[in-house]
Amino acid sequence: MRIFDPHIHMTSRTTDDYQRMADAGVRAVVEPAFWLGQPRTNPGSFTDYFDSIIGWEPFRASQFGIRHHATIALNPKEANDPRCRPVLDLLPRYLAKDGVVAVGEIGYDSMTPAEDEVFAAQLALALDHDLPAMVHTPHRDKARGTQRSLDVIKESGIAPERVVLDHLNEVTVAAAREAGVWTGFSIYPDTKMSPERMVAILREFGPERVLVNSAADWGKSDPLLTLHTGEALLKAGFDEDFVDRVLWRNPVEFYGQSGRLDLSDVADAGPTFAGNSILRGGS
Ligand SMILES: [Zn+2]
Repeated sequence: MRIFDPHIHMTSRTTDDYQRMADAGVRAVVEPAFWLGQPRTNPGSFTDYFDSIIGWEPFRASQFGIRHHATIALNPKEANDPRCRPVLDLLPRYLAKDGVVAVGEIGYDSMTPAEDEVFAAQLALALDHDLPAMVHTPHRDKARGTQRSLDVIKESGIAPERVVLDHLNEVTVAAAREAGVWTGFSIYPDTKMSPERMVAILREFGPERVLVNSAADWGKSDPLLTLHTGEALLKAGFDEDFVDRVLWRNPVEFYGQSGRLDLSDVADAGPTFAGNSILRGGS
């Protein structure tokens, strides 16, 4: 099984995790910029973080044969802190870089006016830089947050197929599918979405425009839940091609829209990668 985890925060994981992921078949990851658990007090703190997830972290991943890309943004939670607002002015410099395959994580945390403003500004940046957008849906009041996110996405003018709406569940999946965006599902150890619930969603809706991730970070999470979802699918009778589409070809297709996905040094990246001309500069 080859696995591309399209949403994982490796900066908060250990080298043991990298080893276990490599052993499990994880060959590529995307690391979205996010909140670090503790408030940052100035934009320079973001600069160092962004440099780390496009520099040090890809190097660390490469030691285990894993290809690492990033998405860059001011996260929804810190969008509320006026000290962090100047980060918006730093973004264009980062969005021009090779290893950056989307603007993200953007979206809502508490649905405040400040979040409205920063969300819309960053969708505009995605359009300006011709990049896909990775949108987080709030963990509280998810149904309303999802609907409001879809409204803002529509208003922005970005093509829905260039947006993934993440952390969806049984309640929010239908609205996202109807809007034409990619649907992201984060699989957690014992709350929210589980491998078994993911199998049921895939059975109902099929594999099209579906991304499955571990969203592993500094909280209780597990970078192998992508593998466990693949295993649960096989056990439920889905074939290997179906699993490969969900866990590899779909994330390649979504992030390939950046024109910057470079899997040239990943063993067995497969014909989908070459066939879609997504080598750097290829799209
Ligand atoms: Zn995340």
